[in-house]
Amino acid sequence: MFSKGSTRPPRSLVALIVGITVVPLATLLWLGWRLLEQDRALEQQQVRQRVERGADLVVSALQRAVSVSEQRLAAGSGPGADGAVAVTFRDGHVEASPHERLAYFPVVQPLPEASATTFARGEDLEFHQHDRAAAITSFRELARSSDSAIRAGALLRLGRNLHNVGRFEEAFAAYGRLSEMDGVSVGSVPAGLIGRYARCKLLQEQRQWPNLRAEALGLQRELWSGRWTLTGPVYSLYATDAAKWTGGESLGARQPEVFAEAVSVLWDRWMLSRPPARASSGRESLSVNRQPLSVLWQNSDGSFRALVAAPAFVESQWLRALAPIAKEQNISFGLRDTDEARVFGTVGTDGPKTVRGAAESALPWSVVTASLDPPVERYDFARRRLWLAAGFVLLVAMALVASYLIVRAVKREMAVARLQSDFVAAVSHEFRTPLTALRQFTDMLREHPALDDDRRRTAYDAQSRATDRLTRLVESLLDFGRMEAGARRYRFEPRDGAELVRRVVHDFRADALAAGYDIEFRGNGSAPIDTDDEALARAVWNLLDNAVKYSTTPSHVEVDLHNRDGQVFIAVRDHGIGIPAHEQAEVFSKFYRGEQARIRGIKGTGIGLAMVDDIVKAHHGHVEVESEPGKGSTFTIVLPAVLARPK
Ligand code: ADP
Repeated sequence: MFSKGSTRPPRSLVALIVGITVVPLATLLWLGWRLLEQDRALEQQQVRQRVERGADLVVSALQRAVSVSEQRLAAGSGPGADGAVAVTFRDGHVEASPHERLAYFPVVQPLPEASATTFARGEDLEFHQHDRAAAITSFRELARSSDSAIRAGALLRLGRNLHNVGRFEEAFAAYGRLSEMDGVSVGSVPAGLIGRYARCKLLQEQRQWPNLRAEALGLQRELWSGRWTLTGPVYSLYATDAAKWTGGESLGARQPEVFAEAVSVLWDRWMLSRPPARASSGRESLSVNRQPLSVLWQNSDGSFRALVAAPAFVESQWLRALAPIAKEQNISFGLRDTDEARVFGTVGTDGPKTVRGAAESALPWSVVTASLDPPVERYDFARRRLWLAAGFVLLVAMALVASYLIVRAVKREMAVARLQSDFVAAVSHEFRTPLTALRQFTDMLREHPALDDDRRRTAYDAQSRATDRLTRLVESLLDFGRMEAGARRYRFEPRDGAELVRRVVHDFRADALAAGYDIEFRGNGSAPIDTDDEALARAVWNLLDNAVKYSTTPSHVEVDLHNRDGQVFIAVRDHGIGIPAHEQAEVFSKFYRGEQARIRGIKGTGIGLAMVDDIVKAHHGHVEVESEPGKGSTFTIVLPAVLARPK
């Protein structure tokens, strides 16, 4: 006997299947992951190499660009572009090229100036005798001198006296003439500057604000134009006042002021190091007023040359050549000065980066390079990972499907094996009953030779019934075997179904199984059908057999036959245990045995109804079942009726 539950594969088998699928899958997954990790490492290494290569190219291109500027510097040329100034320190003086790019100088050459004695007489009139008119005449005379130094000194003093006597316009004009003078100084200040400044002062005193502003703008313009070579303190003094008068917002240091500050630093350093031991040169970065400056310097033959470059110059002269390299290598680069402040460029924070220090690259800055577009590589990597993941999903799916199919196949095989062994057990059981009866009656006849006729006949009848049952059993099995092999041949002949069924019922009543049952046949008229007599008889017999077997107490079994609408209905109705609804479709499967049949230990092989179904289908009919547990079942064979033909 079998149950559906018992067809489940054993746990060890399930574990084995799981083992042989899960373990290799996990190993594969792990290997795949390792592969990806290696892939990622390789990719990062490639990126790093690219960045390193890019850094080398950037550094050497910068070296080339910087050395071009160094050659120009050595040849004594100017910077050749905006945003830088070249300076030379020699014999205690400083030259700048272009001159106006330095707001002021560390040292200046004194300009010719008239000696104080020249103006002694006029000043005596002015200060001691308080004869301003005479002083004015004296200075006016001197102001006509052919010596510009005397003229300058006289004009300043003339202006002062005119001012003091309230002749402002004339004073203004005298200062005006002074402001136009170049190449001479008064009181160590260039004459032009002092003239301009005096005019501003006069206008301030007169409260002529618009005029003052215009005059101060002129002063500022000339301060910025490099007309006068000034020292830092002088420049600041005048520049501060000019800015105050113009009312201009202070926008931070101007480029020439920043350069001037840087040159002062270089000058101080040079003065300290003099005399330099031997020719030397250098590249460095300086930060003045938070502006990063790059400096190239050369020291030889007692002179010092330097190129001081602002970011604009670095950008236009040195970095321009780098753009194509950066693009080709897919990198970004940045320059940082010694304070690690950013000078140029923005370097991405993602991905591998490389830094060439100033000492290593021999440049004024550290050069930082980074992969410009790490997401591109990440995209490649992600795509590969996606493919791998998809491969694994496919693999896992295939493995799961394969496992499922294996489990199902194993389950089926096991079910068949179980069914077959149940079948063999059931068949042996079926054989035992008639064989036991045969043996009993044969023994009785042998051991009691003087039995009376009645008992002897009873014994012979019993032997005959047992033999019939055995014969039927064997034939049934043979038939089933043939049916299974597809070798069962049917020989159809037109017959009266009613007659056939009546005969089967009659024979069945005589069967040992039917003892105590009331088997009733109800047929109305004839039922012409085309039939294989033997096969249909077996089908009806099987139904009767079941009707009796599955009625726990002897009861009534009705066999009803009627002919309606061209169909012949052969119904076998019992009042037995019935069949639950969910089993009704299954009972026709071969080897299937109902749950109640198994629980109650009712003998059977599970092939009876399968044969009925097969035979009826061969007759172009079908079998119907109606049943209710505890009330009984009705199996109805429905066959096509044929018109009766004369025999
Ligand atoms: P067997 O009777 O040898 O078990 P069958 O193919 O004849 O095999 O029947 C299959 C199953 O159908 C039985 O095991 C039983 O559970 C159920 N069955 C068949 N006929 C009846 C019936 N008349 N009453 C109740 N159950 C039935």
